[in-house]
Amino acid sequence: MAEVDHPSPVKFASRLKDGRALAEDVWSIYNVANLPADCINLGQGYMNFAPPEWVKKAAEEALDTVAANHYSHPKGRMRLRQAIKKVYDPQLHRDLDVEKEILVTSGANEGQYSVFTAFLEQGDEVVMFEPFFDQYLASVTFNGGVPIYVPLHPPANASGKFSSDEWKINPEELRAAITPRTKMIIVNTPHNPVGKVFTRAELEIIAHIAKEHNLLVMADEVYDTLVFDGKEHVRIATLPGMWDRTVTVGSAGKSFAATGWRVGWLIGPEYIIRPTLAASTRIVFCSNSPLQEAAAAGLEQVQERKFFQTQTAEYAERRNILTDCFDTLGLPYTNPEGSYFILLDISRVKFPDDYPFPRSVLGRGRDFKACWFIALEVGVSSIPVSEFYCLEHANIGEVYARFSFCKDVDTLRHASERLKKLKQYIV
Ligand code: GLN
Repeated sequence: MAEVDHPSPVKFASRLKDGRALAEDVWSIYNVANLPADCINLGQGYMNFAPPEWVKKAAEEALDTVAANHYSHPKGRMRLRQAIKKVYDPQLHRDLDVEKEILVTSGANEGQYSVFTAFLEQGDEVVMFEPFFDQYLASVTFNGGVPIYVPLHPPANASGKFSSDEWKINPEELRAAITPRTKMIIVNTPHNPVGKVFTRAELEIIAHIAKEHNLLVMADEVYDTLVFDGKEHVRIATLPGMWDRTVTVGSAGKSFAATGWRVGWLIGPEYIIRPTLAASTRIVFCSNSPLQEAAAAGLEQVQERKFFQTQTAEYAERRNILTDCFDTLGLPYTNPEGSYFILLDISRVKFPDDYPFPRSVLGRGRDFKACWFIALEVGVSSIPVSEFYCLEHANIGEVYARFSFCKDVDTLRHASERLKKLKQYIV
């Protein structure tokens, strides 16, 4: 794996190596800054449209006050904790205690990092399904944890469109991954990058194993407002006995098209939130104040504005523009039931071995080259999926490129026109 040169005589901490943090991260390699200016960015998952007007306005109003420009309570601003309670109480069937069971964090990422800091001892094992959101790896290893990978299996011999639901866990493989050192399991639903929305039956299997082995469950549900086709989003915290051992993760960035705000939250029982608050307070002290106010205004009004229903319908339309294009190409791809990612099988896309690839993609999986080639020749960027696998299993991910559809309809139509040009490279 290509590593950033480090000429300093002072040795950096080995945790950077264990966390794969020295290899240039995939978001930087395929950053718009590295690609031609006219390349359409369907790579890193962020929107090319603004947060809703009424949410943005709340941010501006917050900046105009004195208090919202200063520190917040490390637990988060009371207005936001109240707004989170309003949205989640009915969904979790609880009367959440805003003092003890809700923690606002600097993005979902920092919240998850703080949970690991609070709960992992050196050598504790954390089970995650592969492919996994890349940040988990560094967040676990930086905190002394050991990632243990359990595969999500795509259907064998898929041709054309197949549902994200066809990516399956094998309960026996999950069971076999559990050891006396297992401390946690991460359940990401809707899933990045697969788009899978775990079914109640699948979550029941995971819940059963978690209870049997006394595991903490990190329910990363940051795409919870983006579930399509009437599919039910089940929160594992609502299954019998699971509230007691689950921390549920949410994100204002995904919910309100504001990924740069870095406002997220954790919900769980006091004995999970309290130690996590202790860690978070020492890591960031508190999250940024004005945008907490804006996120609060957003959550306060979603119900009366039917905002999430409208937004989901818009995302379903965006998804369909790309899936229509992939149908035309005739390549296998995952039709996601949730999140805003589509995995396209690029194994039949041919490119010349001597193409002028940059150093950053050499020595990585075939998909790194394919994504680079597609971005330069077709003019649409995507993310290579081997990045979401451990090194031993990278070959499974190499088959796919991940396209994000969190873009406006015109951009997606334009991207599909370009992607149809892929036909000439398919063998
Ligand atoms: N969650 C976003 C994605 O998967 C971006 C993650 C990041 O840039 N760290 O595309």
